[in-house]
Amino acid sequence: MRLVRHPVLCNYYVTYRCNAKCGFCDIWEKPSPYITLADVEANLRDLKRLGVRVIDFTGGEPLLHRQLPEMLALARQMGFITTVTTNALLYPKQAERLRGLVDMLHFSLDSSDRDTHDRGRGVACYDFVLESIRVARALGERPDVLFTVFRHNLADLEAVYREITQPNGLVLILNPAFDYNAIETGERLTPAELDFLSAFGRKKGVYLNEGFIALRRDGGNHVAAPVCRAASTTLVISPHNELVLPCYHLGDQKMLIAGRLFDLYHAPETQRLIALEGRLPACEGCTINCYMQPSFAVETSKYFWAALPSTLKYNLEKGTWKRLLRSAGR
Ligand code: SF4
Ligand code: SF4
Repeated sequence: MRLVRHPVLCNYYVTYRCNAKCGFCDIWEKPSPYITLADVEANLRDLKRLGVRVIDFTGGEPLLHRQLPEMLALARQMGFITTVTTNALLYPKQAERLRGLVDMLHFSLDSSDRDTHDRGRGVACYDFVLESIRVARALGERPDVLFTVFRHNLADLEAVYREITQPNGLVLILNPAFDYNAIETGERLTPAELDFLSAFGRKKGVYLNEGFIALRRDGGNHVAAPVCRAASTTLVISPHNELVLPCYHLGDQKMLIAGRLFDLYHAPETQRLIALEGRLPACEGCTINCYMQPSFAVETSKYFWAALPSTLKYNLEKGTWKRLLRSAGR
């Protein structure tokens, strides 16, 4: 049963540029402009009218955009929940300006070993992650550590938990890697490794959406009976100010927004494309977390029930549920 019919999330790509070169990501290869504050203002107004609650200012590396604090402040003033994930290279410099503006601030860290993390990221950013944690805590922020889990770094989880997140009182978010387009992230996690991850996710101070594990056990999204609700839950806006459908990773259609996001979203052609979510040939086997997370949240399914305890656990630990309730009432 569908619980929420309007979109709830916007993945707002502030630029595709990035100062890292992660092996499991191709976004940094794309030439890209930066979004403008005027477009953000107009789009946020329409996102509000569409019922969106959470704005994920993403990239590329979102901190490369000099006006990110202004955009976040605007979104917060309008009652949105904000989220930013960063490789942390620029965070220590910008922390003061970002203070208090990001509800869910994530630092990416994939290993407790400096060389392993830096090799995977293509640049030396490990020390910046540790420095960012120190700076954020000194400013009273509560960032999370986002650990993208591959077969090769499963064994590093324990040390990151024990040596970094627990001593600093941070939540360790487990983000099982996924393949898309031509980007191969390595062999998929085996059933035994999924079991290990699932058990790890139950520890205090660890967040793992169990729906991600259940979906992998089921072979991902199936076009014949899709669980994906990417386009009807999530609006993707590109740095070119386009609405991207049905999701960033497929990006089949891009439509210029030009100040009319609300009308564009309701246009018959857009609605036709939205209805194709999870049903296109490339959707078979898909496990892309960023779209499955909202997909699981808006419809009662086995994935909804699998995801629910971890979602409650995270929101209670972080206190985010208070802002979620407030944003729902605005
Ligand atoms: S930091 Fe993020 S956007 Fe940049 S290359 Fe790595 S995964 Fe891609
Ligand atoms: S199944 Fe995957 S590729 Fe297809 S629309 Fe959903 S998120 Fe995009």
